Amino acid sequence: MAIKLYNTLSRTKEEFVPLKTGQVGMYTCGPTVYDYAHIGNLRTYIFEDVLRRALEYNGLQVNQVMNITDVGHLESDADSGEDKMEKGSRRTGKTAWEIAEEYTQAFKKDLRDLNIQEPHIWCKATDHIKEQVETIRCIEEKGYTYRTSDGIYFDTAKLKKYGVLTKIVVQDLMAGVRIEMGEKKHPTDFALWKFSPEGTQRQMEWESPWGKGFPGWHIECSAMAAKYLGPLFDIHCGGEDAIAVHHTNEIAQTQACHGTNLANYWLHGYFLQLGQEKMAKSSGEFLILQTLMDKGYDPLAYRYFCFTGHYRSQLSFTYESLTAAQRALENLRAEVKKLDPTLDPSPDGKGEDGYKKKFLAAINDDLNMPQVLAIVWDLLKDNSLDAAQKLGLIKDFDRVLGLKLTESAGESAIPKEIADMIQKRQEARTAKNWAESDRLRDEIAKLSFMVEDGPKGQTVRPKKFGE
Ligand code: AMP
Ligand code: ZN
Repeated sequence: MAIKLYNTLSRTKEEFVPLKTGQVGMYTCGPTVYDYAHIGNLRTYIFEDVLRRALEYNGLQVNQVMNITDVGHLESDADSGEDKMEKGSRRTGKTAWEIAEEYTQAFKKDLRDLNIQEPHIWCKATDHIKEQVETIRCIEEKGYTYRTSDGIYFDTAKLKKYGVLTKIVVQDLMAGVRIEMGEKKHPTDFALWKFSPEGTQRQMEWESPWGKGFPGWHIECSAMAAKYLGPLFDIHCGGEDAIAVHHTNEIAQTQACHGTNLANYWLHGYFLQLGQEKMAKSSGEFLILQTLMDKGYDPLAYRYFCFTGHYRSQLSFTYESLTAAQRALENLRAEVKKLDPTLDPSPDGKGEDGYKKKFLAAINDDLNMPQVLAIVWDLLKDNSLDAAQKLGLIKDFDRVLGLKLTESAGESAIPKEIADMIQKRQEARTAKNWAESDRLRDEIAKLSFMVEDGPKGQTVRPKKFGE
């Protein structure tokens, strides 16, 4: 079945055809590690994870590369302001290198908590200065650069096809724009290499053919993507904010050096909003995953919440909707847990294919996850399927959903530690030691299980959200 994906380059949903049959090269812009990733950033990584899983579900072999921006991302996209890493260093009192390491590890933990698959290749900007310098040299040799007192800039007016992603016309932008111009010739020009300011010692700086300094933000992705995936590969993704500047400039650099658009398909995840505002690290108004977890939410409830909206529309975050997602996920797991495959041996096969087809049609229609959730609920309620068939389908669909729906299906969900405490509590009750019995009940509750005393003795179950 054809996979259709919305390509920002053509502004249409296109059939996805990889360059090499059966294989996909995919580059995903990674985090700027000067602070924690917020749940808006994580929405974009969840979308990219689902994209990769959907391609793999279709039998394609994906090679995913993700960068870590640990230098060069200035406060303003117009190449002005302080380097975010140096600013993070001032904020925390640690070195830029230390905070890069700390927030990279925090980001990897977020990926694990959200069941996001790690890329096949991680690449840090600071480990690839040589490749970035070489790419700038290549652009310079082709005649697309000029020098100012603070750096080497890309001359966007020289590139006929500048702005293919946004349909920007450089000349139109020139009239009456208010952009921090400095010595730039055109508002859309951008830094390839920035010189270390006179008289200051930056924590992160390198020698280069143009003078001591550091690379501009966009060059890292062009250089590293081409190194690991070649100068033209299949899919490049990021958040919607990358369209106008970051990805537009990645394409410009690659057109200048290699004559390609870097990737054939450019996909963008739309923003998570907090009320009417976009969630942004720079505004300081942001939520991190750990905050949700500290409030008792399962991180996968956030993943479920993200599936309630299509990746190409903005999604508004509220605790009410996250709570609804948590309840839905708990109910889903409870339904799946009831599916003991040994109980219902009636393999009639009716409808099974239908659900698989519907599921594939939904993911291959530009990753329609809200529809996928509806299909999952429909199949669980469908009495024409037996438990084994339902479990088989859920297991299969969870390869894309990544909600860990079947991990405890058909088996006891009570860990040994809890079972031992229940046993001890039983002994305490037999000895009429009510204080010890109550103490054990509270201990068990702390571990997120509820003990209830009924006529037939104790029963134990995982706590429900909010209990
Ligand atoms: P950054 O760490 O700022 O470089 O951003 C990491 C990724 O998150 C990029 O792909 C951004 O486009 C994306 N992003 C930033 N803010 C949001 C948001 N509010 N919602 C969804 N994605 C976002
Ligand atoms: Zn990038």
